Amino acid sequence: MQRLQDKVALVTGASRGIGRAIALRLAQEGARVAVNYRSQEAAAAAVVAEIVHGGGQALALAADVSQAEPARRLVEDAQKHFGRLDILVNNAGVVRDNLLLTMDDDEWRQVQATNLDSCFYCCRAAARFMLRQRSGRIINISSAAGEKPNRGQVNYAASKGGINALTRALAAELAPKNITVNAVAPGMIETEMSREVRELAGDKILPYIMLNRYGRPEDIAAAVAFLASPDADYITGEVLRVDGGLRG
Ligand code: NAP
Repeated sequence: MQRLQDKVALVTGASRGIGRAIALRLAQEGARVAVNYRSQEAAAAAVVAEIVHGGGQALALAADVSQAEPARRLVEDAQKHFGRLDILVNNAGVVRDNLLLTMDDDEWRQVQATNLDSCFYCCRAAARFMLRQRSGRIINISSAAGEKPNRGQVNYAASKGGINALTRALAAELAPKNITVNAVAPGMIETEMSREVRELAGDKILPYIMLNRYGRPEDIAAAVAFLASPDADYITGEVLRVDGGLRG
């Protein structure tokens, strides 16, 4: 018996990287999956094809989740297509690193809008359906930077700290309706987003990671699948670090 049989999941920013791995893993566990992307249509179609090839069901949905109306429509379209919505994974995110004095308003706003506003918009839209169903799972992808920020990341760290706070506040609000809200905080994961930092740092970061390796998107997907499954029925308001033991 698959852990997520009969469940429907929406994963934002699932055309590549961590979101892609999450979509594939949830499908492997039996969920039907809405694969959201912003610009990379072909990549999202390839994720859908991989799920279908494995015997699952999936649908690619374009939407810029940093904006209220497209985000609302995305959640509605996913629910309408599959007839229900059980799992929302807020994964879409961007970095625009810069030091404070040279950071412009756009770099600040774009990161808040994509990482944090999107989370609010999608949670609000999904909660309407989950409240009616009297069940649901919301999993927000945060970051180690939410608690242990790096230089040049005031925008990113603030957005991820905001996600952690939103997660705890929303967990309290939705718990009486049998909806859990948790976050996963990845460390340094091998994706396009972290490529430049990893290349610049060489081996210098590894001594700060107890397990002495960068994470893989599949490491994050495994934690998300756990939080989405009945094995996590009694967990809510939690920010789960998946960072190989990142030292402070
Ligand atoms: P990535 O490889 O850059 O992929 C980002 C994904 O987000 C892409 O699918 C992109 O879609 C989508 N996206 C960006 N803006 C969007 C928008 N406005 N609307 C809809 N989708 C949008 O990044 P990643 O490394 O997989 O990161 C995924 C999440 O993990 C992010 O929240 C990130 O902050 C978090 N995280 C990553 C790391 C790491 O080391 N990689 C560490 C901690 C936390 P398109 O390509 O179609 O535009």
